[in-house]
Amino acid sequence: MKKFTADLIYTMNGDPLKDHVVITDNTGLILSIERLSDHDVSSVRHLGDALIPGFINAHCHLELSHMKGIVPSGTGLIPFITDVVTRRDKIEKNIHQAILDAEQEMIRGGIVAVGDISNTTDTFELKTKGNLRYYTFVEHFDFLQHDNAQAVLDQYDKIFQALSPPTGNRKAKVPHAPYTVSSELFKLLYPEDDANLTISIHNQEMIPENQLFESKTGELTYFYRNFGIPLDNFQSTGKTSIHWALPRMNPKMRTILVHNTICSAEDIAYAHSWSDQVYWATCPNANLYIENRLPNYKLFIEASAKMTIGTDSLTSNWQLSILEEMKTILKYASYLSFENVLKWSTINGARALGFENELGSIEVDKRPGLVSLDFKRRQHFSEITTATPVY
Ligand SMILES: [Zn+2]
Repeated sequence: MKKFTADLIYTMNGDPLKDHVVITDNTGLILSIERLSDHDVSSVRHLGDALIPGFINAHCHLELSHMKGIVPSGTGLIPFITDVVTRRDKIEKNIHQAILDAEQEMIRGGIVAVGDISNTTDTFELKTKGNLRYYTFVEHFDFLQHDNAQAVLDQYDKIFQALSPPTGNRKAKVPHAPYTVSSELFKLLYPEDDANLTISIHNQEMIPENQLFESKTGELTYFYRNFGIPLDNFQSTGKTSIHWALPRMNPKMRTILVHNTICSAEDIAYAHSWSDQVYWATCPNANLYIENRLPNYKLFIEASAKMTIGTDSLTSNWQLSILEEMKTILKYASYLSFENVLKWSTINGARALGFENELGSIEVDKRPGLVSLDFKRRQHFSEITTATPVY
């Protein structure tokens, strides 16, 4: 049995607790939460400024870890994707070592679960070890070429079948983004009606994505032309990309919309009218790395959106740290409270991935991981210095 306390304990279930102790067994299972005054202080480990549940990284591409520092920052998404597509197999770096190192970085930073995109099987061996809990999203795209949809599905089915997730881990087949998935491929991806699945899709990360759907103009049309991919069969709809993707998906499933950098209030309201199972994953450091901009968080707060936080990959980020993502959000949107953003990075992420029975909050019978936070100035939440996992 172990006992932990901190100046404030954020259980994520009600107000933060002062003068309390969290009691766990030797595996980190929460046995009880009690008053500190009922315990001999010498039997309790005092951790500092705050104790929180482990972080949930709602969006990552662990398999792109070997491309750290390769693609220049600040170019915009289309040059970025072009670089990734043309260079990912040509980097002379040990892909598997980079994946192992990236996982260790996440563990050291207090992350306990990851929503991770896979286009290959590169991460699967590691995932079966169960060091972290993964929801693996095997990602599909046919570049809007519906004649290829069945072949794409067959090709990725091999990858999907290659992963046997350990107990408590999950996997799902998902679309990449509105601008890379044809109607036909969307149809093939959702033959079943499993409301217990989580689906992820990149959404509205750049202005050209909306331009393609609104008027079949803009940089994405040049991108397709450069790669020799015809858009003859693609018709613009006069509406933003989210209006095209969501009706082709299943509103009963939990759906994580990733990035949302150029989402408007109308786009958010539309998604909420489509389903009450919509989660929004923000990856602020990746947005700054690639596009030099951030989503307008005010719009999401005003719509009571269920926000989660992701790191994206080391190709588009300087590190894989949810703490660094929280610092960026609190720096550029200081109207947000620490408590609010902490909710995004813990319980909301756990709910989005369907892991909330065990993770995301400090409650009896959960094994959420425990992380100790320290602040430069006491309880000055925009100046968090370290997050140290204690479980
Ligand atoms: Zn991504």
